[in-house]
Amino acid sequence: MEKVVILGSGPAGLTAALYTARANLNPLVIDGLEPGGQLTTTTEVENYPGFVDGIMGPELMDIMRKQAERFGTRYQFGTVSSTQFSPGKHQIELDSGETLEAATVIIATGARAKYLGLESEQKLIGRGVTSCATCDGAFYRDQPIAVVGGGDSAMEEALFLTRFTADITLIHRRDAFRASKIMADRVLESDKIKVRWNTVVEDVLDVTQNEVTGLKLKDVQTGEQSEIAIKGLFMAIGHEPNTAAFADQLDMDEVGYIRAQNTRTNVEGVYAAGDVQDAVYRQAITAAGSGCMAALEAERYLESKGF
Ligand code: NAP
Repeated sequence: MEKVVILGSGPAGLTAALYTARANLNPLVIDGLEPGGQLTTTTEVENYPGFVDGIMGPELMDIMRKQAERFGTRYQFGTVSSTQFSPGKHQIELDSGETLEAATVIIATGARAKYLGLESEQKLIGRGVTSCATCDGAFYRDQPIAVVGGGDSAMEEALFLTRFTADITLIHRRDAFRASKIMADRVLESDKIKVRWNTVVEDVLDVTQNEVTGLKLKDVQTGEQSEIAIKGLFMAIGHEPNTAAFADQLDMDEVGYIRAQNTRTNVEGVYAAGDVQDAVYRQAITAAGSGCMAALEAERYLESKGF
């Protein structure tokens, strides 16, 4: 039986691996669908402490991976398909059909931003289409940009982006925001944000073939189509935690985020770290911090049980 199995290899999973490896717990990391996590799909990361000139997301994850490996972390390619948690012996079934047994499990499977699903949008992710204003806003200084969504995230992203540009179009599919009134009011009061109500994005345009140049929009009430020129498209239509494999096994909120108290889930020996249990902060550094917390919790638990 494994002492520690870590599910996911983003900042939360790899920090948990570093700490448990240094505690001689010989952790096994199951990489997941996207080894390295969401940061591998971003470009430059300027807000991870320790890198004065910033660092490319994939490079940062590569460094974290090697650092954890240096102390004995083992990696296995695969994804978890289902779990059977039972204190003392947790079972994890992988998509390969293999079943692992572990005394502790650290879930760091992350979350994924929701996208519209348009072919043009998918093609331009990282080349003008992004889901993270905190990560990418500074690249669009004084440029025309658009934000899609009507919830608190869309408000927060649009307001954050006013630091960089005064030309923001907020596109929402209905005639009222879902966001809290205070956030919505701030947006409506901003002279840097124009709202396009009852409007959906039909296509992301890239006349230069490799970066966003505009959007094709449709008014859902009149059917009227229009185009706007933009350089950046910020999707803010919500996130989905990657928790399907733990359905019926753990306490989760209505959206599917794992409920955790200092990374401890409701099942003894099962911990959750990073975006899978955090709908609020969602930063690499907060994910890494909670990965450290989960590792320390797992270490203490194993010690108390005499492993
Ligand atoms: P959300 O509340 O679920 O809002 C998603 C928004 O995207 C909705 O306005 C929705 O439109 C729109 N949308 C969803 N799918 C779409 C699609 N396919 N096409 C076009 N529009 C689409 O998600 P969120 O804004 O990420 O917030 C998630 C949770 O975190 C919420 O509880 C929120 O309050 C909280 N949060 C809080 C703060 C804060 O307090 N500072 C900041 C961020 C998030 P409809 O309205 O028409 O459904």
